[in-house]
Amino acid sequence: MPLPSRPPAHYRKVDLMQYGFGQVQGPVLDTGPGTILYIEDLTVSFDGFKALNGLTLYVDDGELRCLIGPNGAGKTTLMDVITGKTRPQRGTAYFGHNIDLLSLSEPEIATAGIGRKFQRPTVFEHLWLALHANKAVWPTLVARLGNEARERIDEVLATIGLSSVRERRAGALAHGQKQWLEIGMLLMQAPRLLLLDEPVAGMTHQEIEHTVALLRSLAGRHTIIVVDHDMEFVRSIGRRVTVLHEGRVLAEGKMQDVQQNPKVIEVYLGDAAGGDPGRAHALHP
Ligand code: ADP
Ligand code: MG
Repeated sequence: MPLPSRPPAHYRKVDLMQYGFGQVQGPVLDTGPGTILYIEDLTVSFDGFKALNGLTLYVDDGELRCLIGPNGAGKTTLMDVITGKTRPQRGTAYFGHNIDLLSLSEPEIATAGIGRKFQRPTVFEHLWLALHANKAVWPTLVARLGNEARERIDEVLATIGLSSVRERRAGALAHGQKQWLEIGMLLMQAPRLLLLDEPVAGMTHQEIEHTVALLRSLAGRHTIIVVDHDMEFVRSIGRRVTVLHEGRVLAEGKMQDVQQNPKVIEVYLGDAAGGDPGRAHALHP
């Protein structure tokens, strides 16, 4: 379906059209010179404790960005602000030039093109998986779908590497496959920005490698922010890394530079002294 008229050059249509999913309601995302996320001076306080403390962060359109940092650094809180779950006391958060995330509700933010995979699956996802585990609803579902939707499902199945298990009950999938299925569920909504909170937790080495390949293949088509403290995972992704500490950016750059940064080393070593001896070795293999 062609667009009725060509939008101004600096306006880009949200990707849904290319997937045959019709038009999105709400403002059209304007990514301007290639930055898709503008986070400036964000502060979030919980009873006086600053989970985010003047955080500023920019993410390019199509980028695959890793966000690391010790426990309590504010990684999940940042995702909560981007998705509208938590409101900051100070600062701004823009999706493209024109979408003020702080003025939108959670559903409006999702509609605008931001999808999130939680650290732990949501209750909804558990129920969704349970539904598919109990009976073979797939054939009935597929029969009701139009060609476009079916093609879209085939495309997502191929992307997440689950084409060969498409007839299998979701509840019977391996842990890693369930995680990819969850990513696939997000992809069905064709998000411009994907937020993944610790997607490889509990995965085998091989599953982690597969996830690295998956995320790399999604970059470009989507912008991805992946939060993790698995250094091996972040290292093998091999893209720009942002280190958060005490609610602000401590360092940013290539992994090999970030892990040499004295401030970063100190934070990780200091944290290890505080009770997690594994972390002291986390920065270097
Ligand atoms: P991370 O994901 O980097 O481990 P979080 O963003 O979850 O860190 O948490 C940052 C800090 O804010 C932690 O000290 C945490 O205890 C605190 N925090 C997060 N959410 C809340 C909340 N709803 N109420 C009070 N404190 C919170
Ligand atoms: Mg967290």
